[in-house]
Amino acid sequence: MADQESVLVVGAGPVGALNALGLARAGVPVTLVDRAPGVARSPRAAVYHWSVLDGLERLGVYEQAVRRGFLKQDYEYRVHATGERIRYGLRSLEELVAHPYNLHLGQHVLVEVVLAELARFGHAEVRWGSELVDLDQDGDHVRATLAGPGGTTTLAAGWLIGADGAGSGVRRALGMEFEGTTWPERFVATNVRYPFAERGFAQTTFLVDDVYGAVIAKLDDSPGGGLWRYTYCEDAALPEDEVLERMPGFLDAVLPDPTGFELVAFAPYRMHQRAAPRFREGRVLLAGDAAHATNPTGGLGLTGGLFDTFVLQEALAAVVQGRAGEEVLDEYARERRRVFVELVSPVASDNKRLVYHSSDPGRLAADLAALRRLEHDEQAAVDRLMFTKSLETRSLVGAW
Ligand SMILES: Cc1cc2nc3c(=O)[nH]c(=O)nc-3n(C[C@H](O)[C@H](O)[C@H](O)COP(=O)(O)OP(=O)(O)OC[C@H]3O[C@@H](n4cnc5c(N)ncnc54)[C@H](O)[C@@H]3O)c2cc1C
Repeated sequence: MADQESVLVVGAGPVGALNALGLARAGVPVTLVDRAPGVARSPRAAVYHWSVLDGLERLGVYEQAVRRGFLKQDYEYRVHATGERIRYGLRSLEELVAHPYNLHLGQHVLVEVVLAELARFGHAEVRWGSELVDLDQDGDHVRATLAGPGGTTTLAAGWLIGADGAGSGVRRALGMEFEGTTWPERFVATNVRYPFAERGFAQTTFLVDDVYGAVIAKLDDSPGGGLWRYTYCEDAALPEDEVLERMPGFLDAVLPDPTGFELVAFAPYRMHQRAAPRFREGRVLLAGDAAHATNPTGGLGLTGGLFDTFVLQEALAAVVQGRAGEEVLDEYARERRRVFVELVSPVASDNKRLVYHSSDPGRLAADLAALRRLEHDEQAAVDRLMFTKSLETRSLVGAW
């Protein structure tokens, strides 16, 4: 029988890897398993809001992450039909917060940074090619059935964190629904090389248009790097295997001079606004996309998962080590679900509406009037930038 103080973390995406690191740092024996053979490299999260950087710093990965990515302050909304450009930035936060900038780096790079740090702990183990296919639990333990190339094994632990993404096998094994909706559009996330900066684009641009709406973000600040993320959206009823043929129809209208353009990678995604009905079931906790999934417009998906992580690993370590009662885990489950349902999901849905579905002229005029204020009204900019901070849950064990 396994040590009741050990934790099994399922899913080595950013949320699982960071939970494992936090637990390992606290001295908790942890096993991190993932069904993939290694770190997933498909184009996904790239922008980390200023408000999560304190948490990355507490987990000891901020400096390495900044070294592998870069910090930036500017935002731009562009209205494709009129050419109007509305620019604002994070400078208004400079006197107010420790990290008044956003961090850009591919989420697989963040995972690499975290795993390198995790490797320093002898009581932390990472198992690739190990898929959770079932679990059961009693009052003392969770037993996970893991399938891999060598067959099926059982692993017992005191607690289990399900951080295995939107299609979570942990959630399925618990028999839980994933309540909410799936959007009728698909997002196409591309990594491209193109001289966006020379052509006047900000480092994060929201291109507002009913057809050509897109989010464009710089991924790579190295000299001569020039890698950017360009995410657009199309009707999900169109055949997925023809995404590549349709792609020029979206990009050519926005980037009429193709000089210097190179498609490096792309991935189509379905988008959801969904949450598990409970984020705790006995000795199993859900976090990140396994607990809640949102469309990525405005970069709130992983942001929510990181704010889950900052409180979960710390609270669970305290419970395991007898420094806190299990009620802190109930508080985690309640509060993180509330934040998603009441704040993350409605705002992400509204971000999607503005960028990709701006056909209502009255609504668009009101949205643009609010955005124009950000250019000259510092308090309006601060209020807007503080939104992502409101997604944070303070330490459940009083540590910060
Ligand atoms: C195009 C796009 C752009 C985005 N941009 C942003 C952004 O800029 N900012 C932002 O905050 N968010 C963004 N997001 C959202 C972000 O990518 C997700 O919120 C994030 O990946 C969630 O991390 P996670 O660790 O919870 O899950 P995942 O990253 O999905 O990781 C889950 C892991 O679990 C493993 N796994 C799955 N099932 C099993 C199983 N049964 N057993 C074992 N292992 C399993 C998988 O192999 C995977 O490694 C974006 C998403 C998309 C699609």
